[in-house]
Amino acid sequence: MTKTVNHWIGGKTVEGASGNWGPVTDPATGAVTTRVALASAEEVDAAVAAAKAAYATWGTSSLAQRTGVLFAYRALLDAHRDEIAALITAEHGKVHSDALGEVARGLEIVELACGITVQLKGELSTQVSSRVDVAAIRQPLGVVAGITPFNFPAMVPMWMFPLAIACGNTFVLKPSEKDPSAANLLAELASQAGLPDGVLNVVHGDKVAVDALLEHPDVAAVSFVGSTPIARYIHTTASANGKRVQALGGAKNHMLVLPDADLDAAADAAVSAAYGSAGERCMAISAVVAVGAIGDELVEKIRERAEKIKIGPGDDPASEMGPLITAAHRDKVASYVTGAAAQGAEVVLDGTGHTVDGYENGHWIGLSLLDKVSTDSDAYRDEIFGPVLCVLRADTYEEGVRLINDSPFGNGTAIFTRDGGAARRFQLEVQAGMVGVNVPIPVPVGYHSFGGWKDSLFGDHHIYGNDGVHFYTRGKVVTTRWPDPSEAPAGVDLGFPRNH
Ligand code: NAD
Repeated sequence: MTKTVNHWIGGKTVEGASGNWGPVTDPATGAVTTRVALASAEEVDAAVAAAKAAYATWGTSSLAQRTGVLFAYRALLDAHRDEIAALITAEHGKVHSDALGEVARGLEIVELACGITVQLKGELSTQVSSRVDVAAIRQPLGVVAGITPFNFPAMVPMWMFPLAIACGNTFVLKPSEKDPSAANLLAELASQAGLPDGVLNVVHGDKVAVDALLEHPDVAAVSFVGSTPIARYIHTTASANGKRVQALGGAKNHMLVLPDADLDAAADAAVSAAYGSAGERCMAISAVVAVGAIGDELVEKIRERAEKIKIGPGDDPASEMGPLITAAHRDKVASYVTGAAAQGAEVVLDGTGHTVDGYENGHWIGLSLLDKVSTDSDAYRDEIFGPVLCVLRADTYEEGVRLINDSPFGNGTAIFTRDGGAARRFQLEVQAGMVGVNVPIPVPVGYHSFGGWKDSLFGDHHIYGNDGVHFYTRGKVVTTRWPDPSEAPAGVDLGFPRNH
């Protein structure tokens, strides 16, 4: 073990004092490379106190000051893309090009935050009544907490804190303890960009730290991204403690392929979206629904492509797919493939038992393709979160959409077709928060908002975009009367105020 990851509180590194440490593993070698501090409730309290103290001035700082910092931050992040991506690869395992993509999509939200001057513009109605004007403004909440998952250790935190601090809040981030290093670098660069101490704090930990944030009286709001059971718990607990909360959960994303689709394009998209980042994406396509007679041909095209994917360590430029996050997760993913045949599926590709020369202890698994999967099988019902693609068959468009809408998840979905009318109907009928038309991973750009429906999101606000600005601010309406200097006072009137 060579490295220690500590907390970042009040603009400096603060050593973990709880005595509890978590192991961080390089998924390609299986070796523990790092230990991460796991915060006690007292350490979380120190981070919240630092954020609260910083809010006293940051909450009323000028927009010019905030955007000045954010523009400088944008430039620093741009210059450190490779370094951030390398940290992600070393702890998450995804290939470097994919890690760079994650950094780019996070930067998008920093760029959005640079334009907060426009998004925070209020509204003004003049002369709503005689000499009365009404202004609507939005103000920050105070201290906001973010709790993030392992699969995007840089992008998901950047979905949250840049907009939150642009809106005038201060922030406490609790990253995943499985790949914690990128978060510290993001916070250090923010300091270098001129962010005042305490505006952005990183506290590492597990359930103890999360619960301390959920129960802390000085935390006004909680943004969470992670699995559905924990998202539900965060939403319930934070709401019960009087906090505003958005909790994004897990997914099972379907791709509906109609008989008229370009099957080569659909197969390319299915392979990219199912196996990219080894399937550890909340927007991964994990179920393809083939409509009509195209099933066999589509499965064959997917198989041909999947077989060619090169699996290896993320820092090898030749690798297209890296390992899974932990050995335990790899074994769980493998269990869905080994159990699939007994539950009626045809195992077209079995990725279990895959090894990579020279990396015998890495968390490897190959690509698996399961055909004719039934809707009551475990492989279909659970979010596997690995490189396992299920193919289901439907006779008609209606049957395919019904199948998708019966899923408890509703994160992303996609349709592949050349029929504009069918695509239009799908957009309106499908029960999911993000829809792709011939686009397999429809992650919205930064100035739209990201979020699913049903068990994929608990709370009222999607994340980033306009919803993000609304989540991190609250509205205030100011009604003003300035009497004309030449007028006599109106006198006492006990009636309810009317406009005239
Ligand atoms: P996870 O739910 O296990 O962990 C997420 C966070 O919650 C981590 O910071 C973790 O420390 C904390 N946590 C874990 N168990 C907890 C508990 N019992 N009490 C309190 N806090 C706890 O998720 P993960 O495995 O890190 O990430 C993968 C999951 O995240 C997948 O389900 C994936 O679909 C989902 N995800 C969703 C989105 C989205 O936008 N909807 C994006 C990325 C990931």
